[in-house]
Amino acid sequence: MRPQSLFPLFCPVDSLPGIGPRLAKLFEKLTGPHVADLLWHLPSGLVDRSFRPTVAEAPSGRIATLVVTVESHEPSTAPRRPYRIRCRDHTGFLTLVFFHARQDWLERAFPVGEVRVVSGTVEHFNGEAQMTHPDRHGTLEELEGIEGIEAVYPLTAGLTPKVVARAVSRALERAPDLPEWIEPSVFRQRRWPSWKEALTIVHSPESEADLHLDRPARQRLAYDEMLANQLALSLVRASMRKLKGRSVAGDGSLRARIMPSLPFALTGAQERSLKEITADMAEPARMLRLLQGDVGSGKTIVALLAMLNAVETGAQAAIMAPTEILARQHFASIEPLLASIGIRAGLLTGRDKGKSRKAVLEDLAAGEIKIIVGTHALFQEDVVFQDLALAVIDEQHRFGVHQRLELAAKGRAVDVLVMTATPIPRTLTLTAYGDMDVSRLDEKPPGRQPVDTRVLPLARMEDVVMGVERAMRGGAKVYWICPLVAESETSDLAAAEERHLHLSQIFGERVGLVHGKMKAAQKDAVMEGFAEGNIDLLVSTTVVEVGVNVPEATVMVIEHAERFGLAQLHQLRGRVGRGSGASTCLLLYGSPLSETARARLEIMRQTEDGFRIAEEDLRLRGAGELLGTRQSGLPEFRVADLTAHADLLPVARDDARLILETDPELQSKRGEALRTLLYLFERDAQVRTLRSG
Ligand code: ADP
Ligand code: MG
Repeated sequence: MRPQSLFPLFCPVDSLPGIGPRLAKLFEKLTGPHVADLLWHLPSGLVDRSFRPTVAEAPSGRIATLVVTVESHEPSTAPRRPYRIRCRDHTGFLTLVFFHARQDWLERAFPVGEVRVVSGTVEHFNGEAQMTHPDRHGTLEELEGIEGIEAVYPLTAGLTPKVVARAVSRALERAPDLPEWIEPSVFRQRRWPSWKEALTIVHSPESEADLHLDRPARQRLAYDEMLANQLALSLVRASMRKLKGRSVAGDGSLRARIMPSLPFALTGAQERSLKEITADMAEPARMLRLLQGDVGSGKTIVALLAMLNAVETGAQAAIMAPTEILARQHFASIEPLLASIGIRAGLLTGRDKGKSRKAVLEDLAAGEIKIIVGTHALFQEDVVFQDLALAVIDEQHRFGVHQRLELAAKGRAVDVLVMTATPIPRTLTLTAYGDMDVSRLDEKPPGRQPVDTRVLPLARMEDVVMGVERAMRGGAKVYWICPLVAESETSDLAAAEERHLHLSQIFGERVGLVHGKMKAAQKDAVMEGFAEGNIDLLVSTTVVEVGVNVPEATVMVIEHAERFGLAQLHQLRGRVGRGSGASTCLLLYGSPLSETARARLEIMRQTEDGFRIAEEDLRLRGAGELLGTRQSGLPEFRVADLTAHADLLPVARDDARLILETDPELQSKRGEALRTLLYLFERDAQVRTLRSG
């Protein structure tokens, strides 16, 4: 149960004074549903209102705080005309300009003949100073409160700076004093403030320097977040280790029979990874291993051989994919191989219902199906194995601590192999996967042709369409990606639909469209059309299933490539270059192109090495600049910055490890404090893995 002290922070934002349902919706989008989410909404800058020139001295474009006398009101003469208030000091006139403002309100705020303080950006028109919608205003007595330094927060459409700042400060008032959870020696050595002090400090910067990521208060909060992350991962791991494992060591007979039917020899990296996996499986403890390998690096065959290792002992194995399409694809590639050596494979997804589902369940329970391929449906209550020994989870790019946890909660004494196509920089594997054991497929199967990657302005659309036409005449299949715009899914969809229409007019029936708003069955049908035949050009929003394998696809067009993160561009490009034909990737950009966007596209042109791209991605990551950073597979930190605070990560990891060695159930006084930390960062599920959680 969440500790009482945190209750005020986990109230909905509209429990704060001044925030009603309308604003709450906007805050939910900007920060999150809870009061606590506002605490992590950190200032992105500050405004200094201490500059107090006379009207004559006030320069254009700079924020100034002015003391003026109100002379007269000039109400607006037509609906779209502004309302003007003429003011002056002893040096000259200042006009305040308001659009859509209510007269009675303005008359009360700026009574004629009285002195008022206004703060905002001064502009000059025809030699006269004016200020449109002062940011702050008040009486002379209120001057002190107005002329100070103000934190500036990131906004979203519909929320003004004032409203956001006020909401954050109301949330801060609700922040309780919490017991210290940081290890005493770390805390002393770093001279960090307490949690609550740190929050107060980061939200009241006094100079630009106070916004730096290396300030003690900011570091402390970053460390808290990393510690919560590391502790949560360690708890998952510990809870999985608590479940008894068993030694699984096949005799190699099935593997020896299947090898000759493979059209290739294993790469060195595949051999090495398999050795690591089978060594783990042979141990009496449970395996919890991550198989990390770029798209196309050949993870499936490694999984298959590991599963056969389990089957050789008479047990069963399962492989779970994140989507229906991927599950079907795995089944299609694995099943014939297994059939050739007389091993039965089964398929179970959410779409299997009724009789066919029942038959699969029966055969699985009877042990006739040795290897089952499926989706989440595999973890439903009535799915019973005769003897499951190995579960492979193909995560692709979804960051799935939760799925792993769910498996652990099932309590089956199975070895777990998680596969991911997200090449994460070495330094960061830690944040994403804690101290899981890692095997890396860092070598591509031989014979792959490099993808010819070109960067072009969107203005060259006609040339691109002509190029695509040529390629299609030569029998190529083409992916055409339209980007997601974070704020409005509907207009993305419109963009994709429009492109689909445009290309259909040129290429007719051969053009298909998939997007996230489609029903799964509809989507599958289009994907199938693309994989099997009649569709040659597939227009898609970024939902194009990441692991989908259409080896005949040799052209990838990405519109507005500058809006994507490197990791995502890399994943998308990985859809082509999978077969033996030469492939092309066209990255179309809209102008103007920012420095970092240019650098990203250049890296895409230079290399296809996923691990190198991941390192560059980290280096170039601009705060909040990118779409689809979620897809990069890195956990999302709100306060911690994976570059600036990288040195804190190993400290947090070691600390988390030490805590769980000395106080595995978090029952000491500090353990209690750490539980609060976990709840604060919404790691409720991980706390529940504790006996008394
Ligand atoms: P991943 O799942 O890592 O993206 P896959 O397992 O789908 O990659 O493999 C991609 C393609 O490479 C498949 O067509 C597979 O048959 C082929 N492949 C796998 N291993 C090798 C190898 N050692 N040599 C040649 N081709 C391979
Ligand atoms: Mg795969």
